[in-house]
Amino acid sequence: MLGAEVLPGTSARLAWSVKDSLAGISVPTPVLVVHGKNPGPKVCLTAALHGDELNGIEVVRRILYDLQPDKLSGTVIGVPIVNLQGFRRASRYLPDRRDLNRYFPGRPTGSSAARIAHSFFEEVIVHCNYLVDLHTGSFRRTNLPQLRADLTTPTVAEMSRNMGAIVVLQSRGARGSLRRAAVDAGIPAVTVEAGEPLNIEPDAVQQGVQSVESLLNKLSMYPYKGLWARKSEPVYYRSRWVRVPAGGILINRVRLGERIKKDQMLGIVTDPITNASHEVRAPHTGRVIGMALNQVMLPGFAAYHLGYQATVEEAAGDDPEEAVGDDAEVEESEDALESLSLPSPVM
Ligand SMILES: [Zn+2]
Repeated sequence: MLGAEVLPGTSARLAWSVKDSLAGISVPTPVLVVHGKNPGPKVCLTAALHGDELNGIEVVRRILYDLQPDKLSGTVIGVPIVNLQGFRRASRYLPDRRDLNRYFPGRPTGSSAARIAHSFFEEVIVHCNYLVDLHTGSFRRTNLPQLRADLTTPTVAEMSRNMGAIVVLQSRGARGSLRRAAVDAGIPAVTVEAGEPLNIEPDAVQQGVQSVESLLNKLSMYPYKGLWARKSEPVYYRSRWVRVPAGGILINRVRLGERIKKDQMLGIVTDPITNASHEVRAPHTGRVIGMALNQVMLPGFAAYHLGYQATVEEAAGDDPEEAVGDDAEVEESEDALESLSLPSPVM
């Protein structure tokens, strides 16, 4: 892999570089590999495809540096920072403002993003038997730790069952996302969403770590002791976004993970110029599985992601907007913000 051989029972730090990139400024991207003493599957962990999403970076570090190769069956491959260029600028995007997670599996010719995606897919992802892609909420939103998975694909549904007590949402994933391209290539893949961008949150990191440890344990790859996940099952949710009816300053009245009743007030949006206020209320009883941080919002901005517990069959049948798992819904709002030349929350 990547022109190197990692012998059983050893660890190594490899590097992935995009071929044909501008040689003088090309940055090799570190790829951590732990090759177990015993044979077994290859599990890949990828983080920071969006360069401003930091919690996953710490999840990958903890998992990879905790593993002892002589106790491992199989191989764990971790790429802590896929989008190094975005990471350096604290940006979600590539330098040309393209979203790398919309260009997989990529093409050897075409835009820079398509070439980067193609190279990463061919050099790293094709080696994986399972893929966990780690993300956070986007654009000043935070997510309760949760899996996004296409439960209609049996290998993905089975993988989700092995990832411990975590919220699971049905989503095929946006076209061009790494997860969807991997599943299309026959590699079971899920996204872990945990916390908010531009922050390191110990609780979100810990839940991400536990979910991956559960997977490695259930695949009989690693004997984690006293495992939180051994008996626990995921909880399936259907979900919908609640948008703000008017623009202004949003002040939240609920906390992430809170269980809420129908008509409960979620937050208030107040126009700072006219002082007009609008309450945002819950359309149903449910749980806050994702939400915007307090901020300036435009009308229609997606503010609260409410989950409703469901059976796995109900959850699998619930995919109203196929891109719900990858924030495509909230991107329009972000673009609108930028066209008004308000300070971007990300850049
Ligand atoms: Zn992301």
